[in-house]
Amino acid sequence: MSHRNNGNNRNNEESMSRSVFITGGNRGIGLAIARAMAADGDRVAVGYRSGEPPEGLFGVRCEVTDPASVDAAYETVEAEQGPVEVLVANAGITRDTLLLRMSDEAFDDVLETNLKGVFRTVRKAASGMLAARRGRIVLLSSALGFLGSPGQTNYAATKTAMVGFARSLAWELGSRGVTINLVAPGIIDTAMTQELSDRRMRDVMRMTSLNRPGTPEEVAAAVRFLAGESAGYITGAVLPVGGGIGMGI
Ligand code: NDP
Repeated sequence: MSHRNNGNNRNNEESMSRSVFITGGNRGIGLAIARAMAADGDRVAVGYRSGEPPEGLFGVRCEVTDPASVDAAYETVEAEQGPVEVLVANAGITRDTLLLRMSDEAFDDVLETNLKGVFRTVRKAASGMLAARRGRIVLLSSALGFLGSPGQTNYAATKTAMVGFARSLAWELGSRGVTINLVAPGIIDTAMTQELSDRRMRDVMRMTSLNRPGTPEEVAAAVRFLAGESAGYITGAVLPVGGGIGMGI
């Protein structure tokens, strides 16, 4: 379980008991990030929208498509562990299908979660970070979003739109020492990629020089770096974690 701490006076410490909030942190990549940062000694709050929070972590209900839920989640997190110093906007969905079969609802759902959900959670975090003159924001983008991926027009649109969002915000936050960066995973072994057909998986592996899916822990390592004090001069960057699939993005 988490413990209380007022969150002050930790300016020069590397990942020392900061107040961290991770959306969609109850499984997959979000959970791996939560476990890695908790192991570093950070106070980690995991946003979850369904089921139970993961064992041993402080969980807070957070449905990123619902502004009231996001507001309530921040109140709970900040009461428990102080103002959010590190936000990882990880919650995301796919609703894959070819464009001609894609409903307005499938397009809107993905935008609402992957893009507007990020906007809502980042806006809340940025307000405290600007006041504190410190903070780290990391967004989960996607290497396939940059390359283009059949059946994923909605998903790819959101994952690349995040870049413009983050780079614009980098300008708004930079003078206060707050950074915002993106991690762009390739194919990572989670529930999300279990929906891919064998054929699509083979095609993507042909574009992956390491010729295997990544693990959630390998993505967590990159997020942990960008969220750390030693990444203080990196902002607006896209870090591919794709076993080679994201080379050059
Ligand atoms: P999973 O499907 O395993 O987990 C998604 C997480 O997001 C779950 O915790 C889910 O909660 C949560 N979530 C979804 N919608 C909402 C919502 N509206 N409000 C709050 N939480 C929500 O996905 P991954 O772990 O694989 O993906 C995590 C992130 O990484 C996503 O943004 C994804 O796009 C990105 N990514 C993943 C890749 C991969 O290969 N796996 C590749 C590139 C990017 P619940 O349990 O309630 O459903």
